[in-house]
Amino acid sequence: MASSAITNAVRFFLLLTFLVATHSQSLSNPTYSPDEVSTNLGEVESRDNGQELEFRYHDHDQLTRYLRSVSARYPALTALYSIGKSVQGRDLWVMVVSASPYEHMIGKPDVKYVANIHGNEAVGRELLLHLIQHLVTSYDTDPYIKWLLDNTRIHLMPSMNPDGFAISKEGQCDNTYGRHNARRYDLNRNFPDYFKANMKQPQPETEAIKEWISKIQFVLSGSLHGGALVASYPFDNTPSASGLNAVFQSYAHSPSIAPDDDVFRHLSLVYSNNHAKMSRGVSCKSGSPRFEKGITNGAAWYPLTGGMQDYNYIWHGCMEITLEISCCKYPPAHELAKYWQDNKQSLIKYLAEAHRGAHGFVMDENGNPVERASVKVKGREVTYHTTKYGEFWRILLPGTYRIDVSAEGYLPQEVEFIVIDNHPTLLNVTLHSAKGDLAKVLNSLPARVQKTTAPPARPTPVTAAPVSDGVIVFPED
Ligand SMILES: [Zn+2]
Repeated sequence: MASSAITNAVRFFLLLTFLVATHSQSLSNPTYSPDEVSTNLGEVESRDNGQELEFRYHDHDQLTRYLRSVSARYPALTALYSIGKSVQGRDLWVMVVSASPYEHMIGKPDVKYVANIHGNEAVGRELLLHLIQHLVTSYDTDPYIKWLLDNTRIHLMPSMNPDGFAISKEGQCDNTYGRHNARRYDLNRNFPDYFKANMKQPQPETEAIKEWISKIQFVLSGSLHGGALVASYPFDNTPSASGLNAVFQSYAHSPSIAPDDDVFRHLSLVYSNNHAKMSRGVSCKSGSPRFEKGITNGAAWYPLTGGMQDYNYIWHGCMEITLEISCCKYPPAHELAKYWQDNKQSLIKYLAEAHRGAHGFVMDENGNPVERASVKVKGREVTYHTTKYGEFWRILLPGTYRIDVSAEGYLPQEVEFIVIDNHPTLLNVTLHSAKGDLAKVLNSLPARVQKTTAPPARPTPVTAAPVSDGVIVFPED
């Protein structure tokens, strides 16, 4: 049976994890088919051939050719796939950069950046191309990049709104022409919302993203925008937001605090502190806001409904923040090299944060992975779920935590664990089947009685030491 094969595979992987802390086996099938014509170099123009990349804007065809040429030149480090098409039929390309580009590495995180969700915010689109270029050309020479790609699958989407970009104009800093998709929808107002019903008609670009992040458990994500210089973190919306609030953006709003506010603030600071100037918090122009340390709670800046970052976090347990990386939305191309230098460290260091906190596997007594087990850190009212391999990740700052793990048909477990700096905590949890007499008794009782008669949850020993020698070390630099 397939499940026992997976079980054996996972056991083997776990064994391997303890024996060697380097490459893992990847056993899953790729979720999306790689681009079938990626080996066709076609008419590679100028010097953007996968070996070099010029600092200029790339239209959709040029971008497509560049991505294909990289995947042809670096087949062991990259895979190109499309998650769907825009309204006007342009592919929504994603390039994976990793030592395992085609398969998920069990126990290791998948992360992503999505740029150009607003079509006229063009800097992030080019920066992701340069990030791809930097990662593939540094793998053999830069130990940090090698560590990152050996232990992380990085999915990079240079443009979520290629139709909007197609009509945008270089040099336009402040207007909204090209911001929306081809049907005039703002894609960062088009997601289901935790606080309010979002009545906007779902767009193909948004639907493709929703499908994508439901298939791959992303641990960490950044959404790249322009028009300000700040790292903005959930929540973007608030129970009290109104349309009127959003009009008066110069007034301070109340922050909308997420359960993982401390982690989101930390992640945002990692970006701003590694950026050449974001952490100075200088306003883009007179009258626009200053952001202390270059970070802000989304709703404290201005509340919005249907944003992508709240959706990632609440629906899929993916910690996403919004990165506003240029005061000018579509600056002249000759400034792109400077933007790359300003953001290069931030873009890399931020992704490495996926290795912070606790991660592990939820298994049954026989060592089979428990899929869709709910994992909830006490005091943080947001539920994460395990993957089909039983994996979970929880980015947390150093401290002592208690975690509740539960799944249908199993007795819930509560586990205490510690998180320290620079080393992820490996936390494996075994769930015991609720079959047998106790379960029969419990199931026959009304829900409220069940709660009081269920055995008290108590900390159970984890199957691995919280910090194991076999766990990958989080590098200092
Ligand atoms: Zn934007």
